[in-house]
Amino acid sequence: MNASDSERIAAIFEQYGCSSVSDWKEADVVIMNTCSIKQSAEDRVVGKARAMSQYKEYNPDLKVVITGCMAPRGDAVAKATGVDVVITIKDLAMLPQKLGMQKPTSDELAQNYFSIAPKYSSPFQVYIPIMTGCDNFCTFCVVPFTRGREYSRPMIDILNEVEIALRNGAREITLLGQNVNSYEFGFVELLKKINALPGDFWVRFVSSNPQDMSTELIDTIATSEKLCNYIHFAVQAGNNRILKRMNRRHTIAQYLALYDRMKEKMPDVGISTDIIVGFPSETDEEFQDTVRLMEQVKYDMAYISKYSARTNTPAWRMKDDVSIDEKKRREEVLTTILKRTAKENAESLVGQTRKVLVEKIGHRGQLVGKDASYRTVSITNTVDESLIGQFVFVTITKSNGLGVDGELVTEFGI
Ligand code: SF4
Repeated sequence: MNASDSERIAAIFEQYGCSSVSDWKEADVVIMNTCSIKQSAEDRVVGKARAMSQYKEYNPDLKVVITGCMAPRGDAVAKATGVDVVITIKDLAMLPQKLGMQKPTSDELAQNYFSIAPKYSSPFQVYIPIMTGCDNFCTFCVVPFTRGREYSRPMIDILNEVEIALRNGAREITLLGQNVNSYEFGFVELLKKINALPGDFWVRFVSSNPQDMSTELIDTIATSEKLCNYIHFAVQAGNNRILKRMNRRHTIAQYLALYDRMKEKMPDVGISTDIIVGFPSETDEEFQDTVRLMEQVKYDMAYISKYSARTNTPAWRMKDDVSIDEKKRREEVLTTILKRTAKENAESLVGQTRKVLVEKIGHRGQLVGKDASYRTVSITNTVDESLIGQFVFVTITKSNGLGVDGELVTEFGI
């Protein structure tokens, strides 16, 4: 979501005749697009913003701006960091004027955040926000306070942006929102309309919450050619009492029923999740429920974090009574399970031929891409960089940890 916001920031400043530079010390305006998901992320922003503000001694014209998740705490953030402007993402279109920049003559200036035509950082992988904010108020989470309440973008605007991206060569569209399943104007209908657009492309989305996941959505993914068989399905904990304290509105039984439906309709579905270990009062016995869940679901990827209290969230008022050493131990236990199950899942693909979107040259010097299940595929028998941004077919030869190696068999679309 933040990457997509940054594309919109770049686009609006381009309308004012600005361009980006690689070293912030050469910039006239530095915009820090912040994430508040962890306290450590916020601490890093405060440190960097202070250093940038102090740099004005050498460049008195420098303006430093904070936007993103920290922005709703405006004055407090400005005071802590010394930056010039703190502005929320939804007010972004007004930022150049707030900085005193001369309005360009173009009458096509965006009036609000969603109407900004973004400057995509990749020509073939495009991120399109469909909604922002969240009404769920999980007790550990700052998003409802930083991003605000849910706001859905009109379907016609989303479809227009998708069509423009496809005309410009997009091969993969990722629909973004904190809670895409609760898209106000019908998420399933939106997916069906995008799937019906002509062209060879994939559609992904993130994030989904179990309480809003419907069997209709699962069946639509399973039967729609362009919707990828990959679901990020955040569980957070494997124990119902902890889920309740987190204000998650699903039980493990409901989660597993949806998981069973996904596997039944899409045997090759890739599933990832978010898990917090050491939530206040989580006993070892309750943690063992998360261990059992991980063993049962066999995730392809899990983003496991040690609980850390976020100021002013409901969980902040709970006693953070699991020691840091115990949180680390629990994190290691789950990471070990993840590595094993992801490897086993990857090994089960050996011999299969998968469609892959080639993304880049990886750190081993090989072409790297993703299959529809969001598994990373390294291609070992060619380094033809012209394939980047193209769909190819790859026969899987072995697992390489969380991903797989494979050999190019057929190219198409080029
Ligand atoms: S659903 Fe996600 S974004 Fe919304 S409050 Fe819960 S964790 Fe935060």
